Amino acid sequence: MQFADLVADYERLEATSKRLEMRSILVDLFRKVPPAQLPSLVYLMQGELRPEFEGVELGVADSLAARAVAQATHTPEKTVSDSVRRTGDLGTTAEELLAKPSGRLGAEPLKVDEVYSELTRIAASSGEGSQELKIRILVELIARATPPEAKYIVRFALGKLRLGVREMTIVDALSAAFADAGKEARAAVEAAYNRSSDLGLVAEHVARHGLAGLREIKIEVGRPIRPMLAERALNLSDVLERMHGRTALEYKYDGLRVQAHIPSGGTVKLFSRRLDEISTQFPELVKELPTAIHRRPAIVEGECVPVDPETDELRPFQEVSRRRGRKHDLARLQEEVPVRLFLFDVLLDGPTVTVDEPFPERRKRLETLVKDTERVRLATQKIVESVPEAQRFFDEAIAAGCEGVMAKSLAAGSTYRAGARGFWWIKYKREYTHALADSIDGVVVGAFYGHGRRGGRYGALLLAVYNPDKDRFESFCKVGSGFDDATLDRLPAKLKPYEVKERPESVLTGLEPDVWFRPAVVMEVRGAELTLSPIHRAGVGLIRPDAGLALRFPRFTGRWRDDKDAANATTTKELLSLYRSQVRQISKSSGGEEPT
Ligand code: AMP
Repeated sequence: MQFADLVADYERLEATSKRLEMRSILVDLFRKVPPAQLPSLVYLMQGELRPEFEGVELGVADSLAARAVAQATHTPEKTVSDSVRRTGDLGTTAEELLAKPSGRLGAEPLKVDEVYSELTRIAASSGEGSQELKIRILVELIARATPPEAKYIVRFALGKLRLGVREMTIVDALSAAFADAGKEARAAVEAAYNRSSDLGLVAEHVARHGLAGLREIKIEVGRPIRPMLAERALNLSDVLERMHGRTALEYKYDGLRVQAHIPSGGTVKLFSRRLDEISTQFPELVKELPTAIHRRPAIVEGECVPVDPETDELRPFQEVSRRRGRKHDLARLQEEVPVRLFLFDVLLDGPTVTVDEPFPERRKRLETLVKDTERVRLATQKIVESVPEAQRFFDEAIAAGCEGVMAKSLAAGSTYRAGARGFWWIKYKREYTHALADSIDGVVVGAFYGHGRRGGRYGALLLAVYNPDKDRFESFCKVGSGFDDATLDRLPAKLKPYEVKERPESVLTGLEPDVWFRPAVVMEVRGAELTLSPIHRAGVGLIRPDAGLALRFPRFTGRWRDDKDAANATTTKELLSLYRSQVRQISKSSGGEEPT
């Protein structure tokens, strides 16, 4: 196929925003080319050379492309950059400069195949001398191109093709071109895409053998599956109603979704929710997954969350985002932001593709597939049948540092619906409140021994507020963040005078620290917000029976309140009023009591 013909279609596609019109342009185009050529055509249409998850990039910077345009059109670089300032697009500049008679060299017309393979050569060149090679190839392509061809080559090279053709329009067109335009055919094409994430592959199969050809596209390790998505609910009774009274509730971890592909041999690959490969950013997961997953090959899904290895508590999502997209400093970040992957689904288990199994079966598999390791765990789950039961689990999830719960259908039809959003999964998050305005002065009542870097020292402290009515100290958080090395070193000496063998009678907590202290030392902490917790005992029963107040994501401010003794610490009453002053949608919308 001549590149000029494809470019004519590009121009028509660019000129319209109507999906039906786009579809008919694509149908005509797809029918014109032999099946073997369809994949490259489909990728080119999306501004890619390979399916997106392979991450093939041309690596052509603006300046490099500008130099290529200047050379190919025999124009001074300054003229090129002046023109770009006016047109705002180097592609248009290339088109204009070539249109001048002096620019055009005149040569063999370009073929689509040729353009594709030259662009692939640009992408493949790396290392020393690669910039020169990239320029040379680009110059040759532009020099041979007609003005409109040059425009699209340049835009493509810069990753700015933007024809406005969406994946689902290509799906429409493929089914209309090679099966029929009916709903079922379209659904089959889409399903093949959702399971392979590779529209080029789907195009070739459907072009060769129609719908039957699509059945040959299997789920494979190394090729990501488009993730299943969740609907949302207004409150927990709405969740239960939609699930016909019974559902599997899971913690909704707040992190990065990860699809892990573990081959029988060879290295693990991790894909993000958008199907970018992120293996290099989480080398510790790549290393540990083969130990944690003991049947292979396997494809599992989970959420990668930052954790505090000292307290075993989850950390705010923002911390893990620091590890995304990084190329340098990986080792340091791995240490600074330790993560844990909580697995919640299995899509391939050894020889068995499990996506068509109902969720309860997949969960059972997952439980026998995963062996908990330091960094890989199973997502916490509970089957619930009533709103109070769901509410308790929800509170527990929030107290554990999660953003809410995920309800999963237990029905026979609860298969893994790749790429689809539906009520088979329902998310219910707590509304975010503003960061807690005030700091809290907590009394140290216990300590936990540290692990890893903090081995041999204290890793976290248990803090309480004072309840003068009952003359007792009620725990509200376990704090392991905000300590520098020097402070950590000094902790044992500072606290030693107050160490006691058993829990002092005045201390109320659901936790069992390694060391107990007589309430004396006061320290200042800050946190994201106050939530209800089944473990902590601050103001227990005042808002909900069996639940106390807990500080989410606590952090030591660095300030010891040596000016205060234990009885001058923040009181239960103050904590309660801080809780009430928070903007809280949660209790209202989840069917719980509105605190008064
Ligand atoms: P959202 O991003 O708010 O639409 O919520 C959906 C996301 O929650 C998923 O894509 C996952 O990344 C994440 N998630 C956290 N925990 C779970 C879980 N237990 N099951 C499914 N998804 C979860």
